[in-house]
This record gives sequence, structure tokens and C-alpha cells, in this order.
Amino acid sequence: MKETLIIGAGLGGLFTGALLSRQGVRVKVLEKNRTIGGGLQNFVRGGEMYETGMHVAGGFAPGDSLYRICNYLGIMDNLDIVQSDAVASVTFADTGRTYNLPAGRDAFVEYLSGLFPEEKDSLERYMEAIVRLSHEENLFYLESGYREHTDEFLMPADRFIAKYVSNPELQALLAFVNPLYAGVPGHSPAYLHVMTSVLFIESPCRFGSGSSRLAAELERVIEQGGGQVLTGCEVAKVTVRDMRVTSVTDTKGREYTADTFVSDIHPQSLLERLDGKAFTTGYSSRLMSIPDTASAFKVFIRLKPGAIENPGCPVSVTDSFANVWKRDGEWPHTVNCFMSGSHMTVFCLMDFSEVRKWENTRTGHRGAEYEAWKKERTDRVLDLVEKRFPGIRDKSDDIFAASPLTFRDWYGTKNAGAYGYFKDCENLMLSQVPVRTKVGNLFLTGQNVNMHGIGGVPMTAIETACAVLGNDFILNDIKQTK
Ligand SMILES: Cc1cc2nc3c(=O)[nH]c(=O)nc-3n(C[C@H](O)[C@H](O)[C@H](O)COP(=O)(O)OP(=O)(O)OC[C@H]3O[C@@H](n4cnc5c(N)ncnc54)[C@H](O)[C@@H]3O)c2cc1C
Repeated sequence: MKETLIIGAGLGGLFTGALLSRQGVRVKVLEKNRTIGGGLQNFVRGGEMYETGMHVAGGFAPGDSLYRICNYLGIMDNLDIVQSDAVASVTFADTGRTYNLPAGRDAFVEYLSGLFPEEKDSLERYMEAIVRLSHEENLFYLESGYREHTDEFLMPADRFIAKYVSNPELQALLAFVNPLYAGVPGHSPAYLHVMTSVLFIESPCRFGSGSSRLAAELERVIEQGGGQVLTGCEVAKVTVRDMRVTSVTDTKGREYTADTFVSDIHPQSLLERLDGKAFTTGYSSRLMSIPDTASAFKVFIRLKPGAIENPGCPVSVTDSFANVWKRDGEWPHTVNCFMSGSHMTVFCLMDFSEVRKWENTRTGHRGAEYEAWKKERTDRVLDLVEKRFPGIRDKSDDIFAASPLTFRDWYGTKNAGAYGYFKDCENLMLSQVPVRTKVGNLFLTGQNVNMHGIGGVPMTAIETACAVLGNDFILNDIKQTK
């Protein structure tokens, strides 16, 4: 039986491992943390379970791609997916207007057409365009092969929206998903906006028992195939001889061998661990020079019983609709609130440069200046949350925050980019990272390859698993699954 060793038990590593296990490969996954999942990790504090990363998902309705992949893996029924009939509730604080965006293409267009009747035709053309463009990404619909991309697919997301609708408030409404791909106007390609929008408009959902349930189910598939997911194993060295990985060694000096190796960690972390001639200097310098997306700052709020009614969908609050893409100046301009159980998690994008001066400190020992900074940032977040949930401070009995340094430590990435490598339509070639490498038995997976999130990482896992196997049997098998 062939053996594959995977570095990192995040969404990418676990999906790749589960797919390979279903094809008879024996898989071993090495995870540095005590808890598996990476961005799927949850933690418990005061009896409440909080999600570190993923809150919202899509694509799990019957017939959708993720539904079929998870059915193929035999885990769909155990994921506790809670479908939502609303995409999001969006508030612009300056006007005080709130928009409750319904799920489903037709309902979404009908709702917005009712509010912006002069844009009805434009909205229909916009919806047709995002669905048409999403089909340019074959794997999103479990199709093999590669399609030439149109200019529209690769143009900046903000200009793509403006090409279809002209009312600035409607443009801002359609752009409300941009924190889910850390969008930068003039730079983030339309395809990120298209895939994210299609996924969440068509079948928005969340994990009822927390995103860690998905990690646990994928681990179970790997174990059922005779494989293992080992925690507390931080890979320190990847030995390459004659353009093949011969072994990996963890920080405790334990050595692991396998036939093939898959890396789910950030490519820059992988490069730092390579021992021996592997990639050309040009390729290595390119991987080292690609910037990351913005990082995250999160505020966790445990609510007093019955203090706030669960809106049943993510709530986005932006100080002014003119600032929907803005991240400089008065931070934050946008907060994204997710309610689950008896708590609310508030997510804001934040650049790592904000915490750079404390990067050599460790958790719990970052000093008084850092603690004061974090408290001040938490207050700013709560001030914006107050615009939608008045009295939030009094309605809670525990409030704490995670900064980009926390995310760096949770996921093991240098700059804690929330979604990995930044894709820039001014230079898309820079961030093109194939799953195959010049090292014959070393493959890449995870959010730095192709697209991040639940709509991207599992699709890349299919591509990686097919590359490891040297055939696309997995894709064919999944396509047979309803
Ligand atoms: C705050 C936040 C909110 C998000 N919200 C959403 C959302 O709502 N919906 C959505 O679809 N996506 C969301 N995402 C994105 C999504 O979580 C990620 O795209 C996805 O989890 C990335 O998976 P991955 O496997 O590529 O990387 P990771 O999850 O980072 O996994 C990499 C794993 O490798 C481990 N590792 C690192 N170094 C080593 C080493 N040397 N040895 C062994 N193991 C190592 C890490 O501990 C980690 O477990 C969010 C991300 C963030 C940060």
C-alpha cells in the first residue's frame, strides 16, 4: 500500500488526506498543534465553544459540489449543517439602513430590485454574470480540465460590480462579501468576488456544532482507511535528496518516511524547512515575495441569556456605505458579526503591520503596551457593533479578543494572512502556485494554492489528491455521487 505523509491538519491537509484514504492510500498527517483543523479549530472558554476561523459556509445543499464531495467521503450526514434562508443582514451606520439579503438567486435579485427598481435589469444581468463566470472555474462544479478565462473573470472586483450596477449604495451592498476574501479595490480579482458570492447567495449555511466537526469527520475517514492524524508534531525539516523528499523530521527529532509528501502549510514555511536542493532560486524567491492577504482581529462576546435574538445569518455593519472597501484611516470601517449558541464573534480585517512591534513576544507575555492597544482596538470594534446591537457591552458577561499575533500562533503562518497569498489582478502570475512541484514526490495543497475558504480549499484538495495518484479517478468517483 502506498503511503502519503501530509504536513498540517488544516482544511486542505485533512481533505486531501481523506480523499486519498478513500482511494486506498495510507495517510499520515502531522499537525503542530494539540488540536487539529487549522482554520476549523474551535476552543472552549467558560463552557462556550468559539470558532477561531470559519463561521459561514455554502455549497452543502443537496446536489452542490461540497455536498457531493462529503457524500463521497461518507460524512455529509454527520456534519450538522444548518442551512440559512438569508445570506446576511447588512447595516450602513451612517444612513441607519439595514438590508436583509435573502438566499437564492431569484429571491436575492427580487429583493434588491424592489429597493432599487431602476436597477432591476442591471441586477438580473449582474446575477447572470456571476453565475456564468463561476463556471469558468471547472473544479467549482467538479468538472475536470482548464478553461481559458475571460477578461471579466480577471478584472478588479470593484470595477466588475460597477460595470453592472451604478447606484453607489447598491454597489456597496453587492460588495459586502469582500471581507471574506480580504478584497482590495483595483487589485482583488473579480473571480474571488464571484465564487464567494455564488457560494453564499445560493446556499448559505453554517456548522451547527462548530467547524471543528468537519475536521473530526475528515480525521475519521483517514483513520478508517488505516491512516493517522498525529498532533503535537511540528515539522522542522523536510529532507530532499536527488529531487525527492526522503523524510521529514519534527521538532522532537522524530523522523517520518513515506512514498509521497503533501504540504498544507504556508509555502514560505515549507521553504524555510527544506533541507537539500529542491526548488530553483527563481521559484523560491517568487514564493517568498508573494504578499499575504490582510490578517484578522476578532472579538468574542459571551452574551447574557436571552440578551439578543439570533438574527439567523451573519450581520455586517459598515460605518458608511462609501467605506465598504476601506481599511485605512479610522479602523474598523466594517465588522462582521456571527451569532452562535450564547455568543457572538466579531471579525474584522487587520493588517499584520499593526502588531509587528510585538512579533517576537509570546502569548500571555506581550506586555502592558500590547494589552492596552488590544483593549483600545476591542473598544473600537464594540463601538461599531453597538450601531446594530445597542447596549452590547451590558448584554454580555465575557468579552475578549484575538489579534493577528494570536492567528499567527494558531495557524503557524508568519504574517497571519487570513486567506493566504494575496491574489492581485495587476500581477496574477505572481500568486500562481501549482499543486505539483519540481520535487517529484512533493505536492502542495491548502489556501495558498488557488482559492481559500470552503469554496476553494476542498477543490484544491481534489486536484492535489489526483496529482498524487497520477489520475483523476477521485473526480470521476465524486461525480458519480449524488
Ligand atoms: C478569522 C478567519 C475567518 C474565516 N472565516 C471563513 C469563513 O467564514 N468561511 C470560509 O469559507 N473561510 C473562512 N476563512 C478561511 C478558511 O478558514 C481558510 O481558508 C482555511 O481554513 C485554510 O485551510 P488550510 O488547510 O489551507 O490552512 P490552515 O487552516 O492554516 O492549516 C494549516 C495547518 O498546518 C499546521 N501547521 C503549520 N505549520 C506546521 C508545521 N511546521 N508542522 C505541522 N503542522 C503545521 C497549522 O497548525 C494548521 O493546522 C477564515 C479565515 C480566518 C483566519
